[in-house]
Amino acid sequence: MEELGIHIGAVVTYQDGFDELANGNYIGRAFDNRIGGFMIAEVARLLRENNKKLPFGLYIVNAVQEEIGLRGAEMIARRIKPNIAIVTDVTHDTTTPMINKNIEGDVSTGKGPSLSYAPAVHNKLLALVEDIAKNKKIPVQWRALSRSTGTDTDSFAYSNDGCPSVLISIPLRYMHTTVEMLHRDDIENTIKLMYETVLTLSPKTNLNYL
Ligand SMILES: [Zn+2]
Repeated sequence: MEELGIHIGAVVTYQDGFDELANGNYIGRAFDNRIGGFMIAEVARLLRENNKKLPFGLYIVNAVQEEIGLRGAEMIARRIKPNIAIVTDVTHDTTTPMINKNIEGDVSTGKGPSLSYAPAVHNKLLALVEDIAKNKKIPVQWRALSRSTGTDTDSFAYSNDGCPSVLISIPLRYMHTTVEMLHRDDIENTIKLMYETVLTLSPKTNLNYL
């Protein structure tokens, strides 16, 4: 095997590709979290195409090693010291077999991005995102988490002296398989919600609880 370049520790990947199914559904491997990278790139593209000038510096980060302990986010949060973090990741479509709706919340694909209440999520920033969704008529689905979000939100929120953070998730079926499934409407709505949130924020945004 050595002569084929295959050695202990060699990285392999499944060959499964991308397929479009009926009714706006897409399947593929590792949408978790390549879709996040795609969506934040789309936000960047929209800002550029619409000639938006932001009154703050915007860092767009596709962080590595989320699955093994949020490590990339931990490093970059320390490096850039953000004032606010908007995080996106996938979340279970809880109608997927073996996922418990009572534990994970009532979320399914095609019904919009999912917003979470969680210790790492800043309530006022979350309320701001909720208002934007209402005003722009973007459907959202809710989850409540009592501990970690299992996403980079946790790394950003507790970085440095604390960083107001919010999580905008996209529902996904069959997570961590080669047939992960997403809905086109959710991709569009998650991009839109992040884009509108970026446009709403300013140095005057008051996230003070007092
Ligand atoms: Zn994952």
